[in-house]
Amino acid sequence: MSSPTRVLVLNSGSSSLKYQLLDMRDSSRLAVGLVERIGEQTSRLKHTHVTDGDTREQNGPIADHEAALKAVAGELSRDSLGLDSPELAAIGHRVVHGGMFFTEPTLVDDEVLTEIERLIPVAPLHNPANLTGLRTARSLRPDLPQVAVFDTAFHTTMPESAARYAIDPRIADRHRIRRYGFHGTSHAYVSRETARLLGKDPAEVNVIVLHLGNGASASAVEGGRCVDTSMGLTPLEGLVMGTRSGDLDPAVIFHLERVGGMSTDEIDTLLNKRSGLFGLCGDNDMREIRRRVDAGDEAAKLAFDIYIHRLKKYIGAYYAVLGRVDAVAFTAGVGENAAPVREAAVAGLEGLGLAVDAGLNAVRGDGPRLISPEDARVKVAVVPTDEELEIATQTYALVEKNSH
Ligand code: AMP
Repeated sequence: MSSPTRVLVLNSGSSSLKYQLLDMRDSSRLAVGLVERIGEQTSRLKHTHVTDGDTREQNGPIADHEAALKAVAGELSRDSLGLDSPELAAIGHRVVHGGMFFTEPTLVDDEVLTEIERLIPVAPLHNPANLTGLRTARSLRPDLPQVAVFDTAFHTTMPESAARYAIDPRIADRHRIRRYGFHGTSHAYVSRETARLLGKDPAEVNVIVLHLGNGASASAVEGGRCVDTSMGLTPLEGLVMGTRSGDLDPAVIFHLERVGGMSTDEIDTLLNKRSGLFGLCGDNDMREIRRRVDAGDEAAKLAFDIYIHRLKKYIGAYYAVLGRVDAVAFTAGVGENAAPVREAAVAGLEGLGLAVDAGLNAVRGDGPRLISPEDARVKVAVVPTDEELEIATQTYALVEKNSH
């Protein structure tokens, strides 16, 4: 029998489980789905068998991630794509925090699980859910390779000058405080796809990647290696996001505590969940914000302007970090869809060789495309991200390598 070619990708959030089953012969999707509100009475599983275009929903309580994965396995079995299929080569898991320890995709064993567990203090929201997903999948198919693909791995090439905060290194090391960066699978995929769009080898190309989704981060990628990124110890640092503040003077926190009388947990919630675009104007969806801006809403306009100002600062900063830039790539929900954001972020940067062609920018499309004028010194691109495909590709490559 020929070797198995399917990879199941699992992305376990605190109360959700997203999954995709891919066939790596042609990177096609066989099934995709999502379990939401795990642990509540109103859980929902939405499953699509891509080949048939058939979508099914299950509503009703799903107690935990184990029950969720069992329900997913049941749906896959109904489509003859079950976890027991001999065509399944591996399960690839998104793991948010790999610290400094995990620099590449890793075959999961007990030791790896222990190390991911040790990182919980620096990723309290994400790593516990990722671990549950890993453990459950292992218990369902103990014989199958399970691969952890880390959001932080792509950023482990950052030099110490970019990765360290300017604090006492003994304190930093004791508490594992450094800039780890996130969205790494997306930055890796998009920087590579941008090189491909330019018809060049990734090793020859310097790219600024702007991953603008509900969470947002920028990265400076030099010849395929990340040399700086905007998220830090946690995903709170950097750009203005849907609900996160991004950069601020750390003394704001002391001030809120001492003068505002807020607790550490309250400030954490404020900065992570009630700030950013949402905190500024009450909306975190860029579509709604643009609608309000176009209708003359002042708060939405200020939120948009602050968002763009920060973005522009990072483009300039990463231009300086890289020295030479071949392309700026926009990706994720906002980056792929919001033409006004792309236009405003690049406006006035002609001196850096950056410009957007209004006509090309306005065209909607699914694939990677250039939106800069033909003679532009620095290309501006829209490159749709595909984190699931990247996780599947990395997972399959590791399994293939180990089988030879
Ligand atoms: P993501 O986290 O990558 O799924 O991105 C989600 C965000 O993308 C949403 O919160 C919106 O702000 C934004 N978004 C999605 N579609 C559009 C669109 N057509 N125009 C503008 N923004 C969009």
